[in-house]
Amino acid sequence: MSYSVTWAAERLNKNEQNKLQEDGLDVFKDLPELIKKPFSEIDKSYYMYFKYAGLTVQKPQDKGLFMMRVKIPGGVITVAQGDHLAQIGRDYGHGDIDLTTRQAVQYHWIPFEKLVDIFAGIEAVGLTTAGAEGDITRNVIDNPLAGIDPNELFDTRPTVLAVNQRFQGNRDYSNLPRKMKISINTNIFNAGNAEINDLALIPAVKTIDGQAVQGFNVKIGGGLGMKPYLGLASNIFVTADQVPDLAEVVVQLYRDNGYRRSRGKARLKFLIQDWGIAKFEAKIREQLPDLQTAGQSLVKGWTNGTALGLHPQKQAGYYYVGVSIPAGRLKADQFQAFVDLARQYGRDELRFDHSQNLIIPWIKAVDLPAVKAAAIFKDFSYQPQKLIDFGTTCTGAEYCNLANAHTKEIFKPLLAQLDAKFQFEQPPHITLTGCGNGCAHRSIADIGIEGIHAKTAAGDRVEAYKLSVGGSLLKGGHFNELLKGKFTKDQLPGAVGAILQDYQAHQAAGETFYT
Ligand code: SF4
Repeated sequence: MSYSVTWAAERLNKNEQNKLQEDGLDVFKDLPELIKKPFSEIDKSYYMYFKYAGLTVQKPQDKGLFMMRVKIPGGVITVAQGDHLAQIGRDYGHGDIDLTTRQAVQYHWIPFEKLVDIFAGIEAVGLTTAGAEGDITRNVIDNPLAGIDPNELFDTRPTVLAVNQRFQGNRDYSNLPRKMKISINTNIFNAGNAEINDLALIPAVKTIDGQAVQGFNVKIGGGLGMKPYLGLASNIFVTADQVPDLAEVVVQLYRDNGYRRSRGKARLKFLIQDWGIAKFEAKIREQLPDLQTAGQSLVKGWTNGTALGLHPQKQAGYYYVGVSIPAGRLKADQFQAFVDLARQYGRDELRFDHSQNLIIPWIKAVDLPAVKAAAIFKDFSYQPQKLIDFGTTCTGAEYCNLANAHTKEIFKPLLAQLDAKFQFEQPPHITLTGCGNGCAHRSIADIGIEGIHAKTAAGDRVEAYKLSVGGSLLKGGHFNELLKGKFTKDQLPGAVGAILQDYQAHQAAGETFYT
């Protein structure tokens, strides 16, 4: 550890005390010995270290099975990596692959005793799970169309990789108070979901010495979860080559000043709310005194981080297809079919977006008919137009230890009922989460459904859901607002249907759910 531990005198929560004993990234060093024991002999206090390897002990907790997340900076993989990700799903994940809202993939049922072999295979194809969870910088996200996007200011992939390289495996930043989420994007429709990240770089231009310079304005302190906050605009402009240094200073300030007494208050957003953005910016400038003041933001709207459908790239003659993956879950063999499609008609590449979908880029115009005719598009849509195509849902009570209610199992039938009844030119964004955490972005959905516990008249505890409406990241962002009432899963089609009916009845021409 090359930095001084300035917070050690503070009253630390249990996780913090543990982290002072052993660095989270040591989990990779510990694993070869650990897997020689039965999982039941692993002390529960060790479970937090698994997170640093992208692992969460899955329900039921005594079986030695894990949710495993693979980190994919910017959400871009090669077809060889895609082959391997499909293979993991087939060999260890009960045949399933889940796509996340941060351009990563995750699995369930990963067996404890196979972890070392699985990690060796992941490393061999140039990927890692290190830092996919834990109190560390998480997967750095990008515009899902970076480099091929007609609506981007410039290609952000090199910047994303440079920032990832600055933090990946870096033990100066492996003991943060909680997670740190970074978004880098120059799509003018806010494809990086800037305001819900701890640190967000958004497209901007600045006149410097009479020249218009392309770069980023900076937002800091956003995050979802039980107490969501929107990132606040700083008065900072950076060029792409300055981003890794800026990110390092922000993470360092968070590491040294973030709260470590209560995990519920440990995210950067709470420090920013207490200090104010001006004080945080002044602290940044103490270390980076030459930073420019903010430029002109080029953000004009919001895509919800999706890129669905068949569209031309900025490179003439090439197209990408954004494929809707309902509920973010597909079979490993279906995933393999997309990898094979990319291999045959694309350019050694697949991508993931921020709404649990995948993208195949670099399709030549001449190949579009063949791609559209591919057998896999009998199961998935390349022309998404339904509510299910634009919805997202988290893991929920099927596997997640924090969930109050089930999600993926009820999401598809719920939205199928609604799709049978309603048609929209631009379908509203519906999310379903199993608890108040932000894994499926409930707070910024047009209609957010959140799992809660409720009691029947007889006093029995049951799963129920509450509804919020009107979330968006348009115009700097607005969290959705809670409606009165609790609903069982059987009541949800009626309750959500009533909202959609009202929206359709009163929608003015060109009006979206939020505006
Ligand atoms: Fe689990 Fe809650 Fe996250 Fe859903 S939102 S995956 S229930 S922590």
